[in-house]
Amino acid sequence: MTDAGPAPFTPQQADIVVLGATPGGIAAAVAAARLGHSVLLVEYHRHIGGMAASGLGKSDIEHRELIGGLFHEFTERVLAAYVARYGADSDNVRLCDDGYYYEPSVAEAVFEGMVGEQAGIGVHRGARLADVTCSNASVTAIRIIDRRSGRATMIHGCQFVDATYEGDLYAPAGAAFRLGREARDDFDEPHAGVVYYDYQDGRFLPGTTGAADDRLPAYTYRLCLTSDPDNAYRLTGPPPGYDRGEYVGYFDDLVAGRLSGPKTLKPGRGYNPAHFDTLVRALSVTEIPNRKTDVNINPRPLGFPFPEENRGYIEGDDATRQRIRQRHRDLTLGLLWFLQNDEHIPAEDRRIANGYHLPRDEFTDNGRFPFQLYVREGRRLVGEYTLTEHDLTTGSRRHEDAIAVGEFPIDSFPCRKRQPTDTQVLEGYLGMLDELTHPYEIPYRIMIPVNVENLIVPVAASTTHVAYSSIRMEPTWMALGQAAGTAAYLALRHGVTPRHVPVDELQRLLAAQRQIVSIPDG
Ligand SMILES: Cc1cc2nc3c(=O)[nH]c(=O)nc-3n(C[C@H](O)[C@H](O)[C@H](O)COP(=O)(O)OP(=O)(O)OC[C@H]3O[C@@H](n4cnc5c(N)ncnc54)[C@H](O)[C@@H]3O)c2cc1C
Repeated sequence: MTDAGPAPFTPQQADIVVLGATPGGIAAAVAAARLGHSVLLVEYHRHIGGMAASGLGKSDIEHRELIGGLFHEFTERVLAAYVARYGADSDNVRLCDDGYYYEPSVAEAVFEGMVGEQAGIGVHRGARLADVTCSNASVTAIRIIDRRSGRATMIHGCQFVDATYEGDLYAPAGAAFRLGREARDDFDEPHAGVVYYDYQDGRFLPGTTGAADDRLPAYTYRLCLTSDPDNAYRLTGPPPGYDRGEYVGYFDDLVAGRLSGPKTLKPGRGYNPAHFDTLVRALSVTEIPNRKTDVNINPRPLGFPFPEENRGYIEGDDATRQRIRQRHRDLTLGLLWFLQNDEHIPAEDRRIANGYHLPRDEFTDNGRFPFQLYVREGRRLVGEYTLTEHDLTTGSRRHEDAIAVGEFPIDSFPCRKRQPTDTQVLEGYLGMLDELTHPYEIPYRIMIPVNVENLIVPVAASTTHVAYSSIRMEPTWMALGQAAGTAAYLALRHGVTPRHVPVDELQRLLAAQRQIVSIPDG
């Protein structure tokens, strides 16, 4: 330090720097640290675990046998935590469904355990990325700012992993990316671009043009609510700026029968038959342990008010993002308030809605409200390979450089608010196209930018909008993150860039870590 005052930043150094303590980022950090590297993990929020620790308590996975590795280890640890706390024969152990269903605080504690056991991992919580230093098409350092103290830290690294939902590291590093939806013709994808799709009958509806645009699937929050009166943190008033007009579209849905049950009931999808044909079906409620629920905002009704509220979020500065997050929070709490209190809501529906409240014992430093906005899709990298709808549906499932298996159906949230001519489905909604999607291998190349050298991208990776709607699940992202951390290790070991990592060695290492790297024969 000099007389001129405090140093402008604290320098730090690690072999591998991971931006984003999402499940994918945590998997990358843990994989690299277990292979002996020093890792710095940087997270915007003060909590790690991304959506899995922020209300998404029901793992989005349809074929459990196809994702192993660190995600499976996570579920084993969740199960062990419930067994240790409540006993093997308890209701909570049954409700945690082999560790695939969990309370936010339990998921966060498990992630903290996985990270904390690795002496090689340092974590910066509550820090935003300020800028990125590059040289010769490589990232050399990032400068981060602690959001509370304002203190800056310059972090130098050899390999970088962008595990943010938004693609926040690769954009300022100069990597090429796409934002918004491709046109149908760009990759010859039937479901690309502007689309009205009857997900129950598998038909394209009038209004479908396949045109490209800059819209993204709606963001929401994923709520954790409790039915336990002793743990209830009841709303005492509507959020600031509450406007019941945001929600009255749901009445039209009720009258038109759009809040009925689906034609085919599939387990684990967040259905609750008691909610069918009530306004509570604005929510998709799934039971998790301790009388809590994972609540998705149901995208099927035309009254769903969230599309397009995310405009400007990805490219916005921190203040813009905070404003948009606040708007989503208000809209979400407003919906809960509306369902519980609006006098035009049928009394029975209101009674059901009043059985669910924010839990006192979750998100205790954030008003019992989840910390992470559900950024379903942000930037998408332009990488060495672009995964498209064909890889998931009609094309070969095999890739020579496969490092994980994707298995979730194409599933995009709506991209536009209700238009005057909409009568059946919101534009852009592709609801769980499991008839079309088959399990597929994910090539290593989707994580490798075409024009940045020492950066690996396991989350906001190189896919089209349609394919992204399948890889965007936390179990898949943990598999990609594990591959990213292991690839970073190999790049350092062989003194090559990630682009030139020997993929067969990567595949062998991942298989040894119980990761599923290819579709099993048969
Ligand atoms: C019905 C209801 C309605 C509510 N409506 C609103 C609302 O409209 N707006 C609203 O803000 N809250 C709302 N709240 C939440 C309530 O005001 C919270 O108690 C308050 O926001 C929590 O403050 P916090 O500092 O713990 O978290 P926040 O300020 O929300 O911060 C979020 C997270 O960041 C961390 N953090 C806080 N400050 C900083 C910082 N400077 N740098 C880095 N990290 C930081 C916190 O530890 C926390 O984990 C509502 C709650 C209820 C029950």
